[in-house]
Amino acid sequence: MSTEVKNTTCYMCACRCGIRVHVDEKDGRSSIRYIEGNPEHPLNKGVICAKGASGIMKQVSPARLTRPLKRREGAERGAGEFEPISWDEAFSILENRLKKIRATDPKKFALFTGRDQMQALTGLFARQFGTPNYAAHGGFCSVNMAAGMIYTIGGSFWEFGGPDLERAKLFVMLGTAEDHHSNPLKIAISKFKRDGGRFVSINPVRTGYSAIADEWVPIRPGTDGALLLALNSEIITQGLYDREFVARYTNGGQLVITDPASPRHGLLAIDEDSDPGNPLYPQNQLWWDRHSNRPVLSHTPGADPKLFGDYRLADGTRVQPAFQLLAERVRAHTPEWAEEITGVPAATIRRLAHEMGITARDEKIELPIAWTDCWGNEHKTVTGNPVAFHAMRGLAAHSNGFHTVRSLAILMSLLGTIDRPGGFRHKAPFPRAIPPSAKTPTGPEGVQPNTPLAGLALGWPGSPEDLFVDADGQPVRIDKGFSWEYPLSVHGLMHNVITNAWRGDPYRLDTLMIFMANMAWNSSMNTVEVRRMLNDRGPDGEYKIPFLVVCDAFQSEMTAFADLVLPDTTYLERHDVMSMLDRPISEFDGPMDAVRVPVVPPMGECKPFQEVLIELGSRLKFPAFVDAQGARKYRDYPDFIVRHETEPGSGIGFLAGWRGADGSKSLRGEPNPRQWEMYAKNNCVFRHEMPPSYRYMRNWNRGYMEWAQRARLRRWGEPILVHLYSEVLQKFRLAAQGKWPGRRPPEHLAKRVETHFDPLPFYSAPLEVQATDTEKYPLAAITQRPMAMYHSWDSQNAWLRQIHAHNYLFVNPRTAAASGIADGGWMWVESQWGRVRCMGRHSEAVEPGTVWTWNAIGKQPGAWGLAPDANEARKGFLLNHLISDRLPGETSNSDPVTGQAGWYDVRVRITPAEEAGVWPEFATLPAAPGTRKAPRWLAYVAGKEIGG
Ligand code: SF4
Repeated sequence: MSTEVKNTTCYMCACRCGIRVHVDEKDGRSSIRYIEGNPEHPLNKGVICAKGASGIMKQVSPARLTRPLKRREGAERGAGEFEPISWDEAFSILENRLKKIRATDPKKFALFTGRDQMQALTGLFARQFGTPNYAAHGGFCSVNMAAGMIYTIGGSFWEFGGPDLERAKLFVMLGTAEDHHSNPLKIAISKFKRDGGRFVSINPVRTGYSAIADEWVPIRPGTDGALLLALNSEIITQGLYDREFVARYTNGGQLVITDPASPRHGLLAIDEDSDPGNPLYPQNQLWWDRHSNRPVLSHTPGADPKLFGDYRLADGTRVQPAFQLLAERVRAHTPEWAEEITGVPAATIRRLAHEMGITARDEKIELPIAWTDCWGNEHKTVTGNPVAFHAMRGLAAHSNGFHTVRSLAILMSLLGTIDRPGGFRHKAPFPRAIPPSAKTPTGPEGVQPNTPLAGLALGWPGSPEDLFVDADGQPVRIDKGFSWEYPLSVHGLMHNVITNAWRGDPYRLDTLMIFMANMAWNSSMNTVEVRRMLNDRGPDGEYKIPFLVVCDAFQSEMTAFADLVLPDTTYLERHDVMSMLDRPISEFDGPMDAVRVPVVPPMGECKPFQEVLIELGSRLKFPAFVDAQGARKYRDYPDFIVRHETEPGSGIGFLAGWRGADGSKSLRGEPNPRQWEMYAKNNCVFRHEMPPSYRYMRNWNRGYMEWAQRARLRRWGEPILVHLYSEVLQKFRLAAQGKWPGRRPPEHLAKRVETHFDPLPFYSAPLEVQATDTEKYPLAAITQRPMAMYHSWDSQNAWLRQIHAHNYLFVNPRTAAASGIADGGWMWVESQWGRVRCMGRHSEAVEPGTVWTWNAIGKQPGAWGLAPDANEARKGFLLNHLISDRLPGETSNSDPVTGQAGWYDVRVRITPAEEAGVWPEFATLPAAPGTRKAPRWLAYVAGKEIGG
């Protein structure tokens, strides 16, 4: 027997830590002995978490799907009854079906994926197929976090950027799950705290990171926008904003036309005699110069803009600096106003604003790094205002979340912390232009038979002309993305797909392919109804969603509904890339991407979904996958990754490291046939460190812009001013008001667009709260994923199940006492949409107006290879049954700007239950062919699995 140590990248959550897998080889068989963190990996530096170390038990899970499966003739969807088939048969079923769809109406095929890390490939596949109906999970996860930030500062948190805790003095975390950005952030926080930094967590629940914060500020869910407006208001009224930063690096000094009679009301005033430069990102806006007291071109050398005032241009047009409008907007949003809404005392809000402001102002950092800005000014140092923030789904997953996130981005900007030491820093390929230049087609003519889609399936609209709608303003996409209902739905709306396809609104699908998303359980709102829709037939006896393909590594609740199941590999059995074209693992100081390489062979007949896509793309003769003669171009996925270029000869591929014929080039270069080998030898990670002068102030850094254009990280080189005032939003508002020269929304949506496309942030209660009798349903109910499990991925993991095998609803003792809920007792939780019976736990770590639980621990009996009487099925529960995907009036429970699912907006009441047992109940799923019978217990010792 020999033991080998193989490097690859973890995928037990989305953080992508480097791992070393110890593998025993004996008699031609491989077994994993253990997994450790890779100390040479720049992201986790050897640290591994409970999930990462438990990857072994994912390998040996009884729920592993090992053969392609076809629904048994006559079996109902959802019953989980299958017969095994060969891959040949599976491919020929798919090829025949998809070929017909592609030749007739490509939009009848939809591909939606869960928390995968290969969206550059899945997106390419959909585009080459010619369907607009593609997205990953972002729309039901945190699109508000991406869109609200990117439309304001050109970057966001998580893979896009983050807090520089190396130099920050004050760290404020809002609405973040127990261990978001797990190991890297834990490492950073631990050092930050040891170095004496102060950590404040604003969250309805005090667990995970919040539990180790120096100060916990409990807040009512969905009200963070009010808190942030009040903080902005205090920062401005106390004069604690960074004036120089606001004047030079945001559009705060640019003049806005404030003349309701003008057709350009609310747009930025421009000098029409000046060359705007790139028409996509014009540069001829005006300042009111405080030295000469007259309008001048923005960023005229020697000029300094007024931030306050009310002026007239030569032709009499009334104009005001954008900052003046922002100040007016936030003025009434006092801490007292916010206290009523948020439950956070006004004195606390005032104190926090003051602390943020004086830390940013009085503890400045100067790094001796010279750089030149986009206007040619040379700077001897880089300045930092050391207040850092991190925020995530708790802010985003509300139907008012877009403006909440914009308020946060504006607060960070007023404090002067954008891409500066100790503040927020971008990760390549960010910052992007505002908005980024990627666009979808703009009408149904972009979808043509046997033709790739005329644009990307997901893009970044900059005006109504960029929407993906027909001549009547109706949506082209099945999820209604990029329509007037959700104009900036930059990540799509996966949560709308099943409901819309079932309704035939806006049309019916033929084939829906789902990759690693548990849409029949924890990834759908209104789970019971969605399961019914998946199994519902029309008057002709056919399923309303005619053909359902599910690709997953495990037997989940969703696979039970499939007509065709494709068994995926685990992350330890395949090649994979975390690409610069997608969501790489870049760090602040430069681009970084990573790969996975197989450390053990695939189990049974499992095939990576990547290989499925390459095979189908080749069979269907997509232009990107075949040569001019129609012959297959790529042997397999690894071959595709090495040889594919974004355009012939571009030198840009999925991987940025070891390019060029001999691997000596980085970022750009010809394909290198030994690229995988070189990644494998280098800890499966490529890191490019930029020179110090390119590492900060990248929105406005000339050297960085030029370098990033050469490296093709950026298309354009114009400076990216922070949009305190959003002209993009104002264009949509003008359209809704009938004042935009181009497209206009259908009449029934005009008011909604006018309200929500406010160029300045505002607060309104989430749509669901507005539609709820809050006297009857007074409590907010929220979920978060547990630290030890990544959503539903680990419910089959025997080691991690020892930490959680069922969940409770956590209730503040005061609230529990008022409702008669016993600690550990059974209780009913009821919303206006439905009710569940579960067990309650008293907890001081939740604010009294909120109840919460972990997501996805409760399971359907028999799913995930668990015994039918497993605790997950008998004591665990799912809060989703209480959440609706629709609101009264039949609109989706989504943010009207981005389509973000309003997961955290439901309101409930709680009462004691007389009977024990989880409700609703579900039938037991049979074990699918190729999976193993669930053992009563499962252990793994010295490379061997033991069960009983
Ligand atoms: S944080 Fe844990 S589970 Fe996530 S990638 Fe890192 S080691 Fe794996």
